[in-house]
Amino acid sequence: QNPSGGGEVRPGRLTVLAGPTAVGKGTVAADIRRRYEQIWLSVSVTTRPPRPGEVDGVHYFFVDDAKFDELIATDQLLEWAVVHGRHRYGTPRAAVEQVLSQGRPALLEIDLQGARQVRENMASAFFVFLKPPSLDELVRRLVGRGTEDSEERARRLRTAEVEMAAESEFDISIVNDDVLRATNELVSWMGLTPTDSPVT
Ligand code: 5GP
Repeated sequence: QNPSGGGEVRPGRLTVLAGPTAVGKGTVAADIRRRYEQIWLSVSVTTRPPRPGEVDGVHYFFVDDAKFDELIATDQLLEWAVVHGRHRYGTPRAAVEQVLSQGRPALLEIDLQGARQVRENMASAFFVFLKPPSLDELVRRLVGRGTEDSEERARRLRTAEVEMAAESEFDISIVNDDVLRATNELVSWMGLTPTDSPVT
C-alpha cells in the first residue's frame, strides 16, 4: 500500500486528478492553489522548458534530462511519464509521503499514464477523472488555448481521444463545465467544505 514500505501514509488522503489534454486540469489545480491552502498540491518535475510566467518550484521544477535520469535512477519519483510524446514529467515521491504522513490532504494533477502508475503503487488513493462537457468542447479548448503549433495540437487531440476512453478506470468523474464549480465538487470529495467565491 505504501510504496516506501514505512506504513506511515494514511490511506485515502491522496487524490489524483487526471483527464484528457486541455480539459482544464491545470486551471482547476491553479484554482485549488489560490482558494484552498489547506490542500497541498504536488509540484511536478519536468524536462519541458518554462513558459512565460511559470516559476521554478511553483508551477514545476524545471530540470534537464540528466537530472531527470538521476531522479529515476535513485527512485525519487512516485510516477513519471513522457507526455504528448515529448517531455518527461514526474511526481517527487518524498514530498508526497511527507505531506500524507502529516495527514494533510494532497492532490496530484498528472496525466493518465501517471495516474495508472500511482494506482499500482497506492491503491488507496482516490482517482478523479476530469472531463469536458463534450469532445467537441474539448477540441474547442485545445485549439483556443493557442500555446501550441498545429502539429502539437494534432498530437494532443489524438492523445485526448484515447484518454477520454479511460473514464471507467476512475472512482468518480467531474465535468469541468465551470472551473469554480468543478473545483468545489473536487474539494467536497476530498472532505473539505467548498467556499463560494475566489479569494483575492
Ligand atoms: P503542460 O506541459 O501543459 O504543463 O502539461 C502537460 C501535461 O503533463 C498535463 O496533462 C499534465 O497533467 C501532465 N503532467 C504534469 N505534471 C505531471 C507529472 O508529474 N506526472 C505526469 N504523469 N504527468 C504530469
